[in-house]
Amino acid sequence: MDVQDLHAEAWAGIQKGYELGRLGHAYVIVGSPRGSGLYFAEEFLKLLFCESSDRPCGVCSSCRRVGGHKHADTLWIEPQSKARQIKADEIRELVRRITQTSFEGGWKAGIVLAAECLNTQSANVLLKTLEEPPPKTLLLLVTDAPQALLPTIISRCQKIVLSSAGTEKADAVWRQPLLDILRDLPPANGLSAARLASQMKGLSDFIKAGIAEMVEADIGQNEAALDESKLKEILAARTLARLKEVLAEILQAMLDWHRDILLLTSGVGEEHLIYGEERKNLAEQAKLHTQGSALKAMEIVEGIGTRLNRNIPELQIFDEAFRKLVRR
Ligand SMILES: [Zn+2]
Repeated sequence: MDVQDLHAEAWAGIQKGYELGRLGHAYVIVGSPRGSGLYFAEEFLKLLFCESSDRPCGVCSSCRRVGGHKHADTLWIEPQSKARQIKADEIRELVRRITQTSFEGGWKAGIVLAAECLNTQSANVLLKTLEEPPPKTLLLLVTDAPQALLPTIISRCQKIVLSSAGTEKADAVWRQPLLDILRDLPPANGLSAARLASQMKGLSDFIKAGIAEMVEADIGQNEAALDESKLKEILAARTLARLKEVLAEILQAMLDWHRDILLLTSGVGEEHLIYGEERKNLAEQAKLHTQGSALKAMEIVEGIGTRLNRNIPELQIFDEAFRKLVRR
């Protein structure tokens, strides 16, 4: 999966702008300056500089020089660390370079990675250029903290917001399968409890694979310098961190479902339901509950979260929880 697929909508906008000759002269790309934001900026530049008709080809000499940050008509600025500021002199040099005649007769581009590291002085130097941009110049400001940029800079740039790794796709994939599981609650017996538990485990594995893929794409070639084992470690840690977030969202959704059941057993009006569109299923399930057992079910779901944080095997946790949910 490449940048263009991951951020298809943002990419389509850029490509169309290029084809119609209506690209902006400055963009704020909101994404990781070491991951998605960086790759998007590189693809953007390849689109401008590529020598092939099917652009960006990624393999011609220009594309390769752009990818290696060695193209003579591109100038990259990147602070060594997040704590470091980008100085006014660096921006002056960037402005000087991109306002000169291009070496190869086409576009000139300045790229500022971690643009949130611009200080007031350097941002002001940049502002002057943004007010009177020379033709065929492009400025790309890549940042994952756009709120740290001066509003006057933001307002003079077009904004491209890239979704963070895994967020949208992982979110989209779990809702429907989870709903299928929730509709089968409470389990009729031990066997159906075990079946639902393994469905939950399958859902979790599926989400995990999706997240790993996105994280991998986000880490990408930028950290290829690291050795294999270190890379695997980073991948595993980031995947696990994101998986925990998504599982927390799933548990919240399960909790909301049981909260709805509790409301129905308490005779509260249907207009207060979170899953209003599921009111028929919820009403059926509420018939199998008392207020007490609905409350207990919420506690059981909360217990799943606690136990997941203790690194107990997932299947075991789900198995125990669904068995406790079996209707009496
Ligand atoms: Zn090319």
